Amino acid sequence: MRAISPEATIGILGGGQLGRMLALDAKRMGYRVAMLDPTPNSPCGQIADQQVVASYGDLAAVQRLGVMCDAVTYEFENVDVRAVELLEGSGVRIAPGSRALRVAQHRLREKRFLRDQDIAVTPFAAVTTADDLTSAGEHVGYPAVIKTAAGGYDGKGQAVVHTRAQALQAFERLRGRELIWERFAPFTRELGIICARSESGQMVTYPLTQNIHEENILAFSVVPAGVPAPVEERAREIAQRIALGLDFVGTFCVEFFLLPDGELLVNEIAPRPHNSGHYTIDACTLSQFEAQLRAICDLPLPAPRLTSSAVMVNILGSGSGDRLLGIPELLSDPAVSLHLYGKRQALARRKMGHFTLLRDPGTPPAQLLQTAREARKRLSWGSASAL
Ligand code: AMP
Repeated sequence: MRAISPEATIGILGGGQLGRMLALDAKRMGYRVAMLDPTPNSPCGQIADQQVVASYGDLAAVQRLGVMCDAVTYEFENVDVRAVELLEGSGVRIAPGSRALRVAQHRLREKRFLRDQDIAVTPFAAVTTADDLTSAGEHVGYPAVIKTAAGGYDGKGQAVVHTRAQALQAFERLRGRELIWERFAPFTRELGIICARSESGQMVTYPLTQNIHEENILAFSVVPAGVPAPVEERAREIAQRIALGLDFVGTFCVEFFLLPDGELLVNEIAPRPHNSGHYTIDACTLSQFEAQLRAICDLPLPAPRLTSSAVMVNILGSGSGDRLLGIPELLSDPAVSLHLYGKRQALARRKMGHFTLLRDPGTPPAQLLQTAREARKRLSWGSASAL
């Protein structure tokens, strides 16, 4: 496939922070950006040259976006797969393709794909009826996590169950949706790896991160992850196998559970740049977003190098005001860089921004994390009148 020149227009389905950071890198590289999102002035819309304000399911609007663009991508996996198929069918260059999206946006298809590739996943079963629930309890076992097969994120649409009574309760709450019963993985750590692959098959992987969640939302990503080298090597190899198996073009993330015996289970594949890869903007020679652009435009993909140890810290809204306080105190550390996403309302648990804290290579991960926790305490939310 011919590489796309920088004066071309990149299309983005979705207007959130991932689209915004992709658009920022695209603008730096000289591209024009057009995007589609139902909300005017979205985080990505604030950066883009052109906004199509329409729902993701509005196929006529998707087609309008396609016509404006030389290459189209998406920034979240809940886009309608029909929109991607439509663009593919009308000869628009779109990546990742519909096959990768179809697999990655549905937990059952994803787990079956991984199993077929001989990649380890936690035992699982499909659940649609009360009989399936009973059978999953008997054959897959407790404790378990019951999740909606499609449409969930950040722990939404899922429940941890230890008993049949709890399983029935979760089933009632999620009833009517296709569900997956996953055996609870007794992990010691959660890890993530970013991988990018170009149209012509060039592939790069990033350093592994240790991901720490709070209430099911990513709170910190620490890099290097501080795991033995063979674990990191296996994670890279699994990511590469997934890229080839899906014929993936673009940037994606693989999330893992590390078990006490050193085994890696894949939890999920995100077919797009990922929150745990934000550290690449400040701590790598190539950001995960530039890698996405290079991959879809079929430009060279140089192996990214980690230039310092880093922690990415998410800044979540608290619901107690829309003004972020403590920025000067946070930035008094010269090795902190702040990224805010241009969202007006800091609703509780909403991802409003992140900061990356850089330290010398070789800084122990535990120390990195401790410093990041201290730095995060400098920030709080208040109202304008509190100033
Ligand atoms: P997910 O939406 O699948 O990424 O799940 C959100 C979080 O829930 C994960 O990051 C884990 O902390 C936890 N989780 C999900 N599935 C499992 C599982 N099968 N075993 C243990 N923890 C899980």
